[in-house]
Amino acid sequence: MIQGTIIRAAGGFFSVLTEAREIYQCRARGNLKRDNQSLMVGDRVLFVPPLGSAGPTAEKDIDDGIIEELIPRNSCLNRPNVANVDQLAVIMSLKQPSYDWQLASRLMVMAEKEGLEALLCLNKADLVEDDELNEIESQLNPFPYRIIICSALCGRGLDSLAKGLTGKCTVFAGPSGAGKSSLLNALQPGLTLKTGTVSDKIKRGRHTTRQAELLPLDFGGSVVDTPGFTRLELADLKPEDLATLFPEFEAYSGVCAYRDCRHLTEPRCAIRQHLGNQINQLRYEHYSYFMDELSKRQEVY
Ligand code: GDP
Ligand code: ZN
Repeated sequence: MIQGTIIRAAGGFFSVLTEAREIYQCRARGNLKRDNQSLMVGDRVLFVPPLGSAGPTAEKDIDDGIIEELIPRNSCLNRPNVANVDQLAVIMSLKQPSYDWQLASRLMVMAEKEGLEALLCLNKADLVEDDELNEIESQLNPFPYRIIICSALCGRGLDSLAKGLTGKCTVFAGPSGAGKSSLLNALQPGLTLKTGTVSDKIKRGRHTTRQAELLPLDFGGSVVDTPGFTRLELADLKPEDLATLFPEFEAYSGVCAYRDCRHLTEPRCAIRQHLGNQINQLRYEHYSYFMDELSKRQEVY
């Protein structure tokens, strides 16, 4: 059997990418469908290649291989369903449109909640002067996630971004116009999804609800084609859990005077004592803003 990753699923057929970077079209064995754990994009599977096959057939045949086994998932995102996503890349542009640090924190809270790594990519560096960039960098210092300054236009930082994506399955998120597609295209021309990649035969399948797709990167790793989380509310989050989703707070967990300190107005709060030093002022403001949002929501129910 060969191991591979499902990069596309439609109408009961799966495109499976192997380590040799070949794509096989497969169906799933009956028991895999029944097992209440229907296969999804991102799943790592073991499959039997077609008998007497001379290798993968570039999407010519619909039933090249049979998926026999699902390798247990590390993680699973919903809507769209994608298994084994490793990280979230938050893409913001430094100008046009301007950055929104609160949105960045919001996305990172969601990444933490889903157990994903996160990185912040600041694009369109070509549009800001060095002074302004220094100012922004000091505002974001310290920051609990890796920051990559880049420009899809002039190529700055693309090596670092490529390194950050290598070997991982990444979801891109960020405001429209920040440069997500431009960055992907600059990293690997031709990568961005063109509709119609699902073969005609598959399209004629009965159930053609399209799922997210994985775009394999030549340098290893992949990107999920539906960029970003679809819901931006801090859905089903309890206020008391929010602090655990700010990794820079972790060093102070249990250090505050009150055991159930929410780090808002309580006296001798370790988080607030480190504001402006180990704890970034902006990040703390986002925390208290989200706390407020979550508490208000709780009152409604
Ligand atoms: P998306 O909505 O996040 O996918 O953003 P796009 O990739 O479509 O980019 C939005 C606009 O920003 C386009 O007009 C791009 O040409 C432009 N753009 C993207 N990256 C850069 C960059 O690094 N510098 C500059 N000056 N413009 C960029
Ligand atoms: Zn506290």
